[in-house]
Amino acid sequence: MSLALYDTMAREKRPFAPTDPARVTMYVCGPTVYNFAHIGNFRPVVVFDLLFRVLRELYGRDAVVYAANVTDVDDKINKKAAEEGVPIATVTDRYLEAYNADARALGALRPTFQPRVTETMDEIIAMIGRLVDNGSAYAAEGHVLFSTASFPQYGQLSGKPMDDLIAGARVDVAPYKQDPRDFVLWKPSKPGEPEWESPWGAGRPGWHIECSAMIEAALGLPIDIHGGGIDLVFPHHENELAQGVCAAHPGGHGQTYARYWMHNGFLNMADEKMSKSLGNVALAHDLLKTYPGEALRWALLSGHYRQPLEWTDTLIEQAKTNLDRLYRTLDDSLREAGDEVDEPAIAPEVARALHDDLNTPAAMAALFQLSDELRAAITKKDKAAAARARARLLGSANLMGFLAEAPQAWFQAGADDDLKSKVEDLIAARQTARAEKNWPEADRIRAELAALNVEVMDGPSGATWRVKEQA
Ligand code: AMP
Ligand code: ZN
Repeated sequence: MSLALYDTMAREKRPFAPTDPARVTMYVCGPTVYNFAHIGNFRPVVVFDLLFRVLRELYGRDAVVYAANVTDVDDKINKKAAEEGVPIATVTDRYLEAYNADARALGALRPTFQPRVTETMDEIIAMIGRLVDNGSAYAAEGHVLFSTASFPQYGQLSGKPMDDLIAGARVDVAPYKQDPRDFVLWKPSKPGEPEWESPWGAGRPGWHIECSAMIEAALGLPIDIHGGGIDLVFPHHENELAQGVCAAHPGGHGQTYARYWMHNGFLNMADEKMSKSLGNVALAHDLLKTYPGEALRWALLSGHYRQPLEWTDTLIEQAKTNLDRLYRTLDDSLREAGDEVDEPAIAPEVARALHDDLNTPAAMAALFQLSDELRAAITKKDKAAAARARARLLGSANLMGFLAEAPQAWFQAGADDDLKSKVEDLIAARQTARAEKNWPEADRIRAELAALNVEVMDGPSGATWRVKEQA
C-alpha cells in the first residue's frame, strides 16, 4: 500500500518514499506563544498529527521523528510581557502550556521534539555565522541579511515571479538592503527588549532562521516532509529553504532541504481566513468548554486538508452527531454482542483513503460503512462477525484519533456530577423495584429518567445509561 502526498514544490501528488525508512523525518511550523491559539492555528496541528499517525503505522512507531517548533521570541510576546510587567518566559510558558493542553484535547500526539527559539539560540547564531562566512549573508548596521542573489533558485517554492518577490519584500524596506528581496537573519532589539549577544552585536534572530536552525539541529538535512499552513509558503518557507541549503553549501548546490512540502488550506470564518488581526477567531480553549475535543478534531478533518474549510456551528454540530452515531454503534455492540475483542485492525478502505494524500472525507465515509457492517452483525446477533467488525471500526477510527473514549464516557460527558449521581440513584431504585416486582414503580422511575433526557439500556451485566441525542 503506497502513500502519495501532494508536494507544493513539485505541484503534484507524488508517491512518498523517505530517505531512510528507519528514520522518517518531518517538521511543522508551530505557534507564536503570546495568547490562546484559535482553532485555525490547530488545523495544521491536527492535519499533521494525522500524517504523523499514518507514517507511524507504515514505518513503525519509533521510526518517525516529528519536530514542531515554538516561537518564543517575537514582538507580540514582548508587547504582552511589557503590558503585564513580567519576563517574556512568564508569557510564553503560560501560553505554551495552554497550547499543548488544547492540542492534546484535540487528540494530537506530542511531537518527538518541540524546540524553542530561546533554547536554540547558539545553533541559530552559528548558522548565521556560516552564512556570513560563505558569502550567503552580509552584516549591515547591526543587522545581518540573507543575500537572495547568492541563491539562484530563490522563488522556486512559491513560483512567484521576480516582481512579486520584490513587492512581497517591500513591506520591510531598509536602506542597507543590497537587494529588496533580502531578508533579516539578525537584528538589534529595541531598548528594554530581550537581547542575546552575537558577533554582530546584541539583538535577536529574524523569524525565518529559527526553523532552519531547528531543522538542522533536531533532524538534519534533508528532511522528508516539511509542513505548515498555506500562508507560510511565501515568504517564510521560501526563505527557510534558501538559508537552510546555503548554510550547508554556498549557493545551495547539491543540497535538498525538504523532500516533500505540504501545506494546509485556511480555516475560514465568515468567508475570511480566521486570524487574530481580522478579529474573526474562535479560540480552541473556549470551544473545548462546550464541545468534546474529538468533535472539533472531526470538524477540522471533515474537509480535505488542502481545501479551505468554513468554520460554523453547523459544522461542529454535524461532527458531534457523526461521532455520536459511531459511538452508539460501538456501545450497542458491546452490550448486545458481548465484549469479546479481536485485535484492532485497520480497514483497507480507510488506509487507502488516507494514503491518497490524506483523503479524510473518504476515510470518514469508510468509517460509516464499517459502522453499518457492525450494526448488521449486531442485528443478526452474530457475535463473531460483530467482534471482527468492531475491531475494524475501532482500529480504523483510532488511527485517525477517533473513538478514543469508552462509549459510556462519551455519552455521559454531557452530564454534570449532580445529574450523574441522580441517575445512578434512580437506576438503583429501579433495580430494587424490579426485584420486588413493583412494576408501576419501575415504570415511574423509567419515565423520570426519560424526563432527564437519559436513556437506560438493560444488558446482561446490568443497566447502563447515556444522555440522549438532542432532537
Ligand atoms: P501563526 O501563529 O499565525 O504563525 O500560525 C501557526 C500555524 O497555523 C501556521 O502553520 C499557520 O499557517 C497556521 N494557520 C494560521 N491561521 C490559520 C487558518 N486560519 N487556517 C489554517 N491554518 C492557519
Ligand atoms: Zn517555519
